[in-house]
Amino acid sequence: MEDQLRKSDTLTVVGELAAGIAHEIRNPMTALKGFIQLLQNSMEDGQYAMYFDVITSELKRIESIITEFLVLAKPQAISYQQKSVVKIMQETLDLLSAQAALENVQFASHYEDQLPDVYCEPNQLKQVFINILKNAIEVMPKGGTVTVNMKQLENRNMLISIKDEGLGIPGDKIKKLGEPFYTTKERGTGLGLMVSYKIVEEHNGTIEVESELGKGTTFHINLPITQAFKS
Ligand code: ADP
Ligand code: MG
Repeated sequence: MEDQLRKSDTLTVVGELAAGIAHEIRNPMTALKGFIQLLQNSMEDGQYAMYFDVITSELKRIESIITEFLVLAKPQAISYQQKSVVKIMQETLDLLSAQAALENVQFASHYEDQLPDVYCEPNQLKQVFINILKNAIEVMPKGGTVTVNMKQLENRNMLISIKDEGLGIPGDKIKKLGEPFYTTKERGTGLGLMVSYKIVEEHNGTIEVESELGKGTTFHINLPITQAFKS
């Protein structure tokens, strides 16, 4: 228990620090991108193309790090409210549909009828869905289906499951998920799940991971529906 508390404190500090830094990096990044574009336009065709490729790919990497902190970087905008999680999920799937299509990934969703609204911070929840769905897409380089299920549990909780058909996660690695900077990807940040776990924790919810090697992984996000559960 004590270990768990300490881990969560560390996550808070790391998360808030990184969020602040991410926020500060966005403006100079925009200027950099603009001037590099101008510079490239002023070159003769194909001149220094290799350099520009590297610059573009590294800028994208910085952007993906910032994207994973986007919501936490705006703490002043936090507003808890009763909101349809189906709607939030649908907006997120729309947002990611172009990236999914590029990777031959399709989304399937099954929502139980008449799901109640959930007391939540909609932008933060969207960030959780983005981070978990992005991982699902990235773990299926040959394409496949990401299945989203949503249902109400008897104990007044909402269960949101996101299932992929990727490589799966070895049992001994599951406990490392959510640790800051834990990544197995060559170009990974290891920040997406850390941020997601922190947000769900703030909603008094839990994330459970079920995985079978070679078959795929399911992230189960369990959220209390009503305000009464929020401390
Ligand atoms: P990143 O995606 O930048 O590596 P994340 O925090 O999003 O950082 O994920 C951390 C690690 O968790 C990943 O590098 C990967 O090893 C593992 N992981 C997360 N989601 C999945 C998934 N759906 N299938 C397999 N492994 C996953
Ligand atoms: Mg990720």
